[in-house]
Amino acid sequence: MTAAILTAARRERILREALRQGLLDRAESLLAGFVDLDGVAATVGALHEAFAGLDGDGAGPEAGSPQPPRVLHTFAAKANCLVPVLSELARLGMGCEVASSGELARALAAGFTPERIVFDAPAKTWAELERALALGVAVNADSFQELERIERILARRPSVSRIGVRVNCQVGGGSIAAMSTATSTSKFGVPLEDPGNRERLVRAFAEHSWLTWVHTHTGSQGCPLGLMARGVAQAVEFADEVEAAFGPGRVEGIDIGGGLPVNFSDDDVMPTFSMYVEQLRTHAPRLFARGYRIVTEFGRSLLAKNGFLAAYVEDAKSAGGRRIAITHAGVQVATRTVFAPDAWPLRIEAYDGSGAARRDRPVRQDIAGPACFAGDLLARNCALPLLRPGDLVVVPDTGAYYFSTPFHYNSLPEPAVHGVRVDADGRIAFSLIRPAQDPWELSDQDGVGLPSGEPVGAPVHSAG
Ligand SMILES: *Cc1c(COP(=O)(O)O)cnc(C)c1O
Repeated sequence: MTAAILTAARRERILREALRQGLLDRAESLLAGFVDLDGVAATVGALHEAFAGLDGDGAGPEAGSPQPPRVLHTFAAKANCLVPVLSELARLGMGCEVASSGELARALAAGFTPERIVFDAPAKTWAELERALALGVAVNADSFQELERIERILARRPSVSRIGVRVNCQVGGGSIAAMSTATSTSKFGVPLEDPGNRERLVRAFAEHSWLTWVHTHTGSQGCPLGLMARGVAQAVEFADEVEAAFGPGRVEGIDIGGGLPVNFSDDDVMPTFSMYVEQLRTHAPRLFARGYRIVTEFGRSLLAKNGFLAAYVEDAKSAGGRRIAITHAGVQVATRTVFAPDAWPLRIEAYDGSGAARRDRPVRQDIAGPACFAGDLLARNCALPLLRPGDLVVVPDTGAYYFSTPFHYNSLPEPAVHGVRVDADGRIAFSLIRPAQDPWELSDQDGVGLPSGEPVGAPVHSAG
């Protein structure tokens, strides 16, 4: 699958229908997110297909069946934690990777059974570890300290959880520092190449019979596939080392993480899951050759290209010779792009008020958001038909880490998110994934009802 799933033509049809149904309007609904659920299903299908053909694989048996799947594909919840999206992924046979109590709560609410949930996080508390082990959620320890905590919890109460340890193979970073998990000084996992660590971790396998998995996540955006695959190869090599010391079968499986980058420059799906599997076959053949079970944790590559934002243009002005379109999509839904525009460029498409693509002569212009700071720009110096008030902009590739991860600057409300399906006859059906937040509705989250300036709770006395 290299062809596009969600094409510009499909976005245009969805946008026209959304306008016709009043999901966007200039009075109330100035901004909305859309998730192409057909595209999500196709992407999940492509993921399963890429890893199929490993003995006894396929989508794996249904949840709850006694035979564990050779490969369990989990979705990294942080990429899009809206519960209906997670439910859809559960329905499609995915598991779920979570990294906080909030994500765990959402995964459970979405219907993932505990044995299909993996809990990774760099700052797990005692309480979080206790809960995960009691539930039977798989846990990947991030450090030697966490292994000790797990040992103490299990001494009191055994668990059916699969337990692994995250290793940082220190293979290096990609083009975006903030997205590089496998540098020599990364905060994640046990750094395998630091003096003494490898031996100490092998000893941990000797001491803890419950420790049966090896986890690595070498990504993500900006990392070449070869680098990711070499990271996995190092994890496999470490697992082989453990098996050499304690016998075959000592390591049950390898969790290879996620991190497949996404193409933000056009609609093509590139790289594909199959291309990554090819790289894994080249760099980490023993991952497939041995009997290891496999867990994957893809996030961005499953959702990014299956979502888009649509927002009205409120105003269009000129400043110092520069054209600027002021839209309702900015830092509240495109936080990464606004704060790190070079690392996270987004495409913008122009439509008129009826949802028809604007095809007239492009003019250089800035596409700004509604927030009150100068840097709130979705795109700079972008060649588009000159935007007018009442036009709409569409922002493709925002299905992961954008509208699902809003930022509350200026008390800007969270926009509605709609699921979209297109049937064989071309009929478009929407389903609400998240209602729009009403900007006039205040809640406890805003501190409403708390007295100002008065101490809350008992006074705290400092010792000494
Ligand atoms: C974020 C994360 C993922 C998913 O990364 P993507 O780049 O969205 O595929 C997987 N595993 C872990 C441990 C993560 O932190």
